[in-house]
Amino acid sequence: MREILHIQGGQCGNQIGSKFWEVICDEHGVDPTGRYNGDEASDLQLERINVYYNEASGGRYVPRAVLMDLEPGTMDSIRSGPYGQIFRPDNFVFGQSGAGNNWAKGHYTEGAELIDSVLDVVRKEAENCDCLQAKTFEDVSCMIMAPTIDITDLISLPGFQVCHSLGGGTGSGMGTLLISKIREEYPDRMMLTFSVFPSPKVSDTVVEPYNATLSVHQLVENADECMVLDNEALYDICFRTLKLSTPSFGDLNHLISATMSGVTCCLRFPGQLNSDLRKLAVNLIPFPRLHFFMVGFAPLTSRGSQQYISLTVPELTQQMWDAKNMMCAADPRHGRYLTASAMFRGKMSTKEVDEQMINVQNKNSSYFVEWIPNNVKSSVCDIPPRGLKMASTFVGNSTSIQEMFRRVSEQFTAMFRRKAFLHWYTGEGMDEMEFTEAESNMNDLVAEYQQYQDATADDEGEYEEEPEEYEG
Ligand code: GDP
Repeated sequence: MREILHIQGGQCGNQIGSKFWEVICDEHGVDPTGRYNGDEASDLQLERINVYYNEASGGRYVPRAVLMDLEPGTMDSIRSGPYGQIFRPDNFVFGQSGAGNNWAKGHYTEGAELIDSVLDVVRKEAENCDCLQAKTFEDVSCMIMAPTIDITDLISLPGFQVCHSLGGGTGSGMGTLLISKIREEYPDRMMLTFSVFPSPKVSDTVVEPYNATLSVHQLVENADECMVLDNEALYDICFRTLKLSTPSFGDLNHLISATMSGVTCCLRFPGQLNSDLRKLAVNLIPFPRLHFFMVGFAPLTSRGSQQYISLTVPELTQQMWDAKNMMCAADPRHGRYLTASAMFRGKMSTKEVDEQMINVQNKNSSYFVEWIPNNVKSSVCDIPPRGLKMASTFVGNSTSIQEMFRRVSEQFTAMFRRKAFLHWYTGEGMDEMEFTEAESNMNDLVAEYQQYQDATADDEGEYEEEPEEYEG
């Protein structure tokens, strides 16, 4: 089994993380007390339940989740919420100080003080990932005796997923501190993040571009794959498509949890494509730094809406590729896809899915780099999300994502040029140099996306600059 250890940090991380657990508990038939209450006829719900849950005594399923924050408020409301009792009480780790939307407090001062308590819980959970963590040959060979275990499961190690926002102090500063500590301690594990990017449309804290840029600097180096959830796009979807005049975090988080459920569907249910984090990464990441994904979902529904929207496979396919359905404010038509993956859910014809997907690629071939053949994969999972007959989730590695990084970078530079608000960070011991480095790392990332957007199959990559006279 490819276990995943989930960590949620800060206000946003805890809010989206707990919604994620509500949705997947429902999909796997786990009730708020942790008991299986699902469709006994369906083995599918339990077959891979160990990916996200530990089995405790009395047949209870306990989320393999660690919750952290620098203030108790959000976690208190999770504890008293509908699924509050399902989490392991020891796995709530919190402080009292708050991070005041200051990345430096999360990363270097307040957060650094609490990080060891979080790592203790992480370690305990990682050790708990039973014998499947076996790394030495002796461990593996003794396990081969067990007939139900697939040898590839023994080799693929459990991974981590982190939910956080990048605009505040805790999820962003402390979240990225934790990510770097985990990378140090478990260098061979995959690290997936669900990262919420800030937008002035949703928040009025001016220093968010600072916090986000400092975080991106960390994520480029220490995360393997990042699902970009951009509040700007989420707000636009709520306002324009779902016609909500004043979207709340609850509305935005409804879109996020549907997307998270869709993205993790291949990991949670049996199937072939992208069945673990490493396979997902192999399919989607042609260059290690370019691991920021645009995600899309269809059909889009609003929170609490009971309209059981029913779409056909061609409609789902058309919508999931549409810029309006992307959770990132960047238009794929302004760039090219390096790679993409689509997960369809519900009862449908695999043949029709394949035909529709090929159709999209043929009609839009200029939007896919021609130097990665077969760069779009698709899969079908029988179990649809609650309330829908069919749905699809899209994960794309598009060079157009640079538009979002450019947006944050422009906001960063406008303030940093005048060193505005810098004293809040230097006051926590940060050096201005770290800002300069973070800024150039993000600008480099933008330039790299542009470079691969422009590259054609005829270029000879690094050799293109060889002087002409050497050629025959
Ligand atoms: P932290 O507790 O210090 O990590 O700070 P927050 O998580 O509150 O970070 C602030 C950023 O997160 C801002 O960009 C907010 O717009 C965003 N944010 C806070 N809560 C939520 C939420 O529940 N959903 C979404 N989508 N964004 C949130």
